This record gives sequence, structure tokens and C-alpha cells, in this order.
Amino acid sequence: MMPISYAIDTATVTQYLQQMVRIDSVNPGLVTGAAGERAMAEWLYQVCMEMGLEVEFQETALNRPNVIARWAGSGAGKSLLLTGHTDVVSVENMPGDPFDGRIEEGKLYGRGSYDMKGGLASILGAVSALKAANFQPAGDIWLGFVTDEEYLSIGTDALVTAIKPDAAILTEPTDGRLCIAHKGFAWLTLTTYGKAAHGSRYMDGVDAITHMQHLLKMITTLEEKVFVDDLHPLLERNSVHASFIQGGLGLSTYPDQCSLQVEHRYLPDLQASEIIQLWQDEIDDLAKNVPGFKASVKLDFERPGYEIERDAPIVQTLHQAFNEVMQTEPDYMGMFAWLDSAILGRAGIPTVILGPGGAGMHSAVEYVHLQDVFDCAAIIAQATADWVR
Ligand SMILES: [Zn+2]
Repeated sequence: MMPISYAIDTATVTQYLQQMVRIDSVNPGLVTGAAGERAMAEWLYQVCMEMGLEVEFQETALNRPNVIARWAGSGAGKSLLLTGHTDVVSVENMPGDPFDGRIEEGKLYGRGSYDMKGGLASILGAVSALKAANFQPAGDIWLGFVTDEEYLSIGTDALVTAIKPDAAILTEPTDGRLCIAHKGFAWLTLTTYGKAAHGSRYMDGVDAITHMQHLLKMITTLEEKVFVDDLHPLLERNSVHASFIQGGLGLSTYPDQCSLQVEHRYLPDLQASEIIQLWQDEIDDLAKNVPGFKASVKLDFERPGYEIERDAPIVQTLHQAFNEVMQTEPDYMGMFAWLDSAILGRAGIPTVILGPGGAGMHSAVEYVHLQDVFDCAAIIAQATADWVR
């Protein structure tokens, strides 16, 4: 069968992207009092309505709705979700108007252009190309525009309670590569316990801060000796670092407590429970060998990593669509940073990630390459048609 090519209306896609970048959707979880996703959600709702999709809001927090749109299939095919987040990070340190959406030499600038309104424009471009070609899906095509990816991902947490598509394409920026793996992370608090006493009473006091040195040393051991031996082909290695440290009562007092917050970033085959166990074993060991040593470990937050096999059907479909549209084989990658695909994966939705190229994610000057946005739209249109037909 000859593959059908879906023509992308580049002028409209550019307009969509420019309009989205001009909407302030800074995440209020990151910046107190920030605009949030409401205006973006209203804009997306309107565009989806105009395309003839069924659309609804799903509240994820006060004034922070997801937009869920559905192009109903005739019933026989597999369903597909095209998804991305509507929030952006802070505009601190950005010169000029961070939301101007100006275009220079094929690049569209502004906060969120690359991460990830460019990806959202690819989704809209893909669906409007299918509509323009009078495509008739057999399976449902879902669009999920979610809140809060840049903070706690309440958007995708809510989305997976509402719909159960057979697969998903997430359009986070991958510079045109197929991303099939990313790391998980865990935030832990380690606390050492001492005994408060007058600074002169060495016979009574136990110094909790000095005891923290053993746990700090454990970070170095993990980094230099343990994690270096376990390498993933796309994600390299596990890592851990200290984030905050706190403790002490006064200059002339033995500190009764010291707490250290650490962050682990780990490979998809590792679980937060195994990380905790690693620390618990070390604490038990130290308690046996260091006089007066007492400590605890507590998990504050975790998100798992994610990985999908290259021969998974959705990966194959996107691979072939890429090949047809770009006339070359795609490159594969893993993302060190965490993505919503872990939540989709945990909900049983096989997900692959593809988005446009650009620069300046979370930085002072951010832009996306318009040609990449059009290419991604064409690839996603082809993959969607192949999947749901
Ligand atoms: Zn993102």
C-alpha cells in the first residue's frame, strides 16, 4: 500500500504556535501567583472545537484545567493519545518580552516555544492535516493537553483516570529523535539524631551534625564506586547529590538533629523502594559500627523512570512514519530529565516521545525551529493515521 502523505498547513501551524507562546502559562506551583494554564486551556478548547472535535475541560486544581479532545473513530481500530503539557517555567532573567513569539531566521522565540508549545503545535498541525485530507479514523484519536508537568504533574495524573488509550505519543522536545527511555527520581530526607547538651558537656552530648558525615560519605561512595558500574545504553548511570542540609541549636550546644535532603536520579529498572533500602542498610551498618550513631531515611516524593522496547508497536509505527516522511531512519535517545511518560507507562499506556528541536529550555533565551515543528506534525499525522486506521 502506498503511504499517504498529509500536507501540513505551515502558516496555520506557525500562527497556532505564536498565539500559544503569547499566552502566559507560567506554572503557579513554581512561581507564587503565576498565571497558570487556564488561558491556554481556553484557547486549546476553542481550537479543538473549530476542528470539529469533542472537547471537555478536566479540572486538575482550581483554575487549572486539562483539555481533553476526542476525534471519535468508527469503532474498529486502536486508539491513540497525542499529549503534551500547557504549563511553562518561570520567565526570570529573560531579556525583553518573554512572550513575544517573534520569528527570526526560521526560529520562533519565547518562553515555552521549545518546552513545549512547539510540540503542542505539532499535534494541532497533525490533526488539522488529517481533517483536511478527510481522514476517517477507525480508532479514537485523543488529544490531551495537561497542566503542571513542570512541577508535580497533577495534569497527567488526572488524565490517566479519564481515558485509557491503546498508546500515546508525547511531544516533549527531543530534537526530532525518538525518545524511548527516561530516568526516575526520588527526594529523600536523611536525619541523624544526637543528644543536646551544654557545649562543655562532652560526656553528655551526642553531635548529630558530625554524625551526618557518614551519610555524606555514602553519597561519595555511591557516586564514585557503586553507580559507575551500572550503565544504560541511552541513559548512562544512576546519580545522587545533596540538595539541602539543616541542623544545630546554638554555638554552645551539642546539636540534637541534622537533616539532609538528597535527590536520586535513577535508571528505569530501579525503584524508589530499592533506593530507600540502600540507605536503610547503610544506616543499620553505621549504627552497629559507629558509637552513638542513630539515623533515619524518609521518602518525600518519587517518580519512576520509563522505558519502552524498540519493537513495541507504537515505537514501530512512529519509526515507520518518520522514515516515510523524512526519507531517513530516526535516531533514538534517552532523556536524563523526567517526563510525564512515566505516569502514562505506569497506567499501562505504551508511550513514545517525539518533539521538535530548539534551545534554551528553562533558560534565558528559548526558541524552537519552525521547520522541525512542521516535520513533527507531518510524522505525527502519518503515525496517527497508521495507528488508528
Ligand atoms: Zn516539558
